[in-house]
Amino acid sequence: MNIQGTWFDGYQSKPQPAQLTFNPDGLRLSLPDRQLDFLYAALTVSEQYRNGHYQIQVRNPPFADGTIECELAPDQQQYILAQGAKSSTRWAAWHHPNTLITSLIALVLVIVVAVKWLLPGLAMAAAPFIPQSFADGIGEAAYEYLYQSEVQPAQLLSEKTKRMIEANFDELSRESQEPARLEIVSLQASNSIGPNALALPNRTILLTEELVEQLDGDLDAVNAVLAHELGHLAYYHSMQALFSYMGLSAMSAVLFGDVSGAVTYLPALAMQMDYSRTAEAEADRFARDLLCAMGKDPTKGALVFNALGEQEAGLLSSHPGSRERSEFFEGGCVNAGYSHRAANF
Ligand SMILES: [Zn+2]
Repeated sequence: MNIQGTWFDGYQSKPQPAQLTFNPDGLRLSLPDRQLDFLYAALTVSEQYRNGHYQIQVRNPPFADGTIECELAPDQQQYILAQGAKSSTRWAAWHHPNTLITSLIALVLVIVVAVKWLLPGLAMAAAPFIPQSFADGIGEAAYEYLYQSEVQPAQLLSEKTKRMIEANFDELSRESQEPARLEIVSLQASNSIGPNALALPNRTILLTEELVEQLDGDLDAVNAVLAHELGHLAYYHSMQALFSYMGLSAMSAVLFGDVSGAVTYLPALAMQMDYSRTAEAEADRFARDLLCAMGKDPTKGALVFNALGEQEAGLLSSHPGSRERSEFFEGGCVNAGYSHRAANF
């Protein structure tokens, strides 16, 4: 008895096509590059999902752990169970109303706690320990994506202006001990990011010329933007956001299986915005303290929010609370204290 299925090996997210052969002594999984044999006792068969598929979990360490997704006819399912495979009853329990209500309440609590505190906390704690090579890979993918649909090589500013911005940036990067690369770019016509600056996990900062123009070429204001982006790097904000997102996706998959996660995502996203507000405030404080430590004037940082205050898109879409933030920069160097690394959360 042969059927086709899909093998998820638990190490890589890429599914592999698999042929399943149900022999009397076990299940043989034929993958494009190898064959795996399992005893039926190592298998756990789910109940049927709404899409008609079954999941067969394989627990056979250290040889293989993973999941097979396939369609099974009723007699095929009975055959596997008769040979010693286990049947998962987790799904059956869900149908009992009391279990369902209790579970739903517990689930909502778990989601709220996880999204509001646990994931951001874990992400924040884990982000500094991520190998730079991993962060580089993600940053490069984001960089390529941005060049495909959002940005293009710089074309608006004079060479002289660009050189001055780059020289300022080198000074900020050196003083903050945050090594980074600046790339001044132009927006593509169909862009969705608007005049903006972005710090990618591969320590590349993209600054759009359109943002410089919105600031009337005020280099103090541009410095505030660049120092702010260095702050995002210092606090590993992009990796934190990524981990929170990955945690949410994983949690949604574990809790809801193949059910759409949309219901959980909406409140999760709303709460995520809170979290990014914290990140923005951290980066602002970093920027102000850095500029003050260098004897530069941070008050022009307020220009960023005044200039873009009326805009829907752009810097503000990812940078909420513009009035408070502009007031923060207008406060100048009063209360400014500076530490090289993010030490004062
Ligand atoms: Zn920011």
